[in-house]
Amino acid sequence: MPLMSPLTKIATGSIVVGLIVLAIKTVAWWMTGSIALLSDALESTVNVATAIAALIAIRVAARPADANHPYGHHKAELLSAILEGVMIIIAALLIIREAYFGLLAPRVLDAPLEGLLLNGAASVINAFWCWILISQGRKRRSPALVADGRHLLTDVISSVGVIFGVLIAIISGWAILDPIMALIVAINILWSGWNVMRESMSGLLDEAIPEAILERIRETIAREATGAIEAHDLRTRTAGRASFVEFHLIVPGEMTVNAAHDICDRIEIALKDILEDCVVTIHVEPECKAKQSGVLVL
Ligand code: ZN
Ligand code: ZN
Repeated sequence: MPLMSPLTKIATGSIVVGLIVLAIKTVAWWMTGSIALLSDALESTVNVATAIAALIAIRVAARPADANHPYGHHKAELLSAILEGVMIIIAALLIIREAYFGLLAPRVLDAPLEGLLLNGAASVINAFWCWILISQGRKRRSPALVADGRHLLTDVISSVGVIFGVLIAIISGWAILDPIMALIVAINILWSGWNVMRESMSGLLDEAIPEAILERIRETIAREATGAIEAHDLRTRTAGRASFVEFHLIVPGEMTVNAAHDICDRIEIALKDILEDCVVTIHVEPECKAKQSGVLVL
């Protein structure tokens, strides 16, 4: 394996760009004292966090199963995403606290134009990285990369909004616009943090595969199981990129083990066409084990 795959490079690049943007925007906040610019800076923590989760997914979650973890390491990605979601939510709550004090006692900004220029420069770096993510994602046919790029684009747009808001605050002299802008950004960050956590939580709690794909799984079993009588107790779960499918397959009691195994192999191969990273476990039973409910009669 090469030292750094292209995906590892992109994920590492996202972390580095995120940290640089965070640093520049923090300086812009420090120069101006603007709470809106502080919240805009902390929005970069979301990007750093998701890039770290992506890197963990590539480096740890993709590790093959070993004696210690016979089901694989997929959940490492989910666990890291939850921890990051918690950090993002804490960042948002800190901004809301600052904005609350700002609303009580709005203050005039220091060195506003220099701060805005610096913040704008950081957004240019973000916009450039957006373009890299989206074009690389298209080139490598990776919807995840394109989605990351699109997410970053919404950050660039919200930063432009913040810059305009602060400009209006300076020109009009309405100092209260600054904490109001900060609140809007903070609510957006809170929402992203919650989404990061919610998705990972269902993965950790072994949520079933979405119903649409489940329907295709049932169709595939019905189509490929010629020779068998019934399938029941279908259970599925996902872990990161991997999915697990298991069920019981009823075959005539006198069928040879060879013939029953051929049916299982056929179903497994067909299921792996639908679900890329999927582990299929089939328990073969004779007809006396047939069930009246929750079954797929073949
Ligand atoms: Zn059974
Ligand atoms: Zn086998």
